[in-house]
Amino acid sequence: AKAAGRNALRFFQPDMQEVVTVRSALEADLRKALREGQFALFYQPQVGAEGQLTGVEALVRWHHPERGLIAPNEFIPLAEETGLILSLGLWVLETACARLAIWGGDSGKAHLTMAVNVSARQFHHQDFVDQVLATLEHTGANPQRLKLELTESLFLTDVEDTIVKMTALKDAGVSFSLDDFGTGYSSLSYLKRLPLDQLKIDQSFIRDVLTDPNDATIARTIVALGHSMGLAVIAEGVETEAQREFLASHNCQAFQGYLFGKAEPPERIPH
Ligand code: C2E
Ligand code: CA
Ligand code: CA
Ligand code: CA
Repeated sequence: AKAAGRNALRFFQPDMQEVVTVRSALEADLRKALREGQFALFYQPQVGAEGQLTGVEALVRWHHPERGLIAPNEFIPLAEETGLILSLGLWVLETACARLAIWGGDSGKAHLTMAVNVSARQFHHQDFVDQVLATLEHTGANPQRLKLELTESLFLTDVEDTIVKMTALKDAGVSFSLDDFGTGYSSLSYLKRLPLDQLKIDQSFIRDVLTDPNDATIARTIVALGHSMGLAVIAEGVETEAQREFLASHNCQAFQGYLFGKAEPPERIPH
């Protein structure tokens, strides 16, 4: 077994080396991208029961000089591991709040909300609350229009600290949505204790909601659970009118997905 282990190691090592090299190249690229302003924020519409635009979710994109447009799933995990998410997250917050402030001065857009994704590492940083408050202050964005999207992974560590931070931001007018709901470590006792405003049904339950009875049950149950706790519920990944209709018939009143629009640069957001 030992010999096999050594052999396995010998065969495995070159690959590992390659992985490490690609990773550190990407890490260096990420640092450079932050310095050189290669990131962009795109905005995806969120709509209400009548199909009216109620707000957007800010989604980060990387304009890589050689590789072109890179989706966040390719670099957010590395940014989280390396701590670069702290600078990137701050840039996202700044950019989204600056956009909110611009919309605030436009009578056609002043009502729109801006949902911003916050990674667990960013949220748990000791300066997070102060950074959000300072950003709202110096951009002039209306805190009532800012919605922070958290994931359940956040509640794995220090629930007390999480509640303190959320409460401080809520006191300033900021609201909270629980992203990817149902995919993570869902504990119903957290739902009761956390000052949330909205649950976001994960798109994995929406995709086959018309054909998979389990997904349909989960989606319906999340809507009922959210409403019974006084929370708004939004479905993400809605791609067809039939999905929207099914969800609406089960009382879901907010939607996001390709049916209404993909994430696009800010000038493409209609009134
Ligand atoms: P997410 O927060 O769950 O965002 C939803 C993802 O689903 C987005 O992918 C969006 O473009 C995509 N999507 C929206 N509608 C549909 C649809 O109808 N069908 C399908 N198949 N997909 C749809 P995107 O932009 O590639 O972002 C992926 C993930 O990267 C996000 O998932 C989020 O976890 C993370 N992310 C994006 N921007 C940020 C950011 O600024 N900060 C942090 N921490 N994470 C971010
Ligand atoms: Ca999100
Ligand atoms: Ca999501
Ligand atoms: Ca997701």
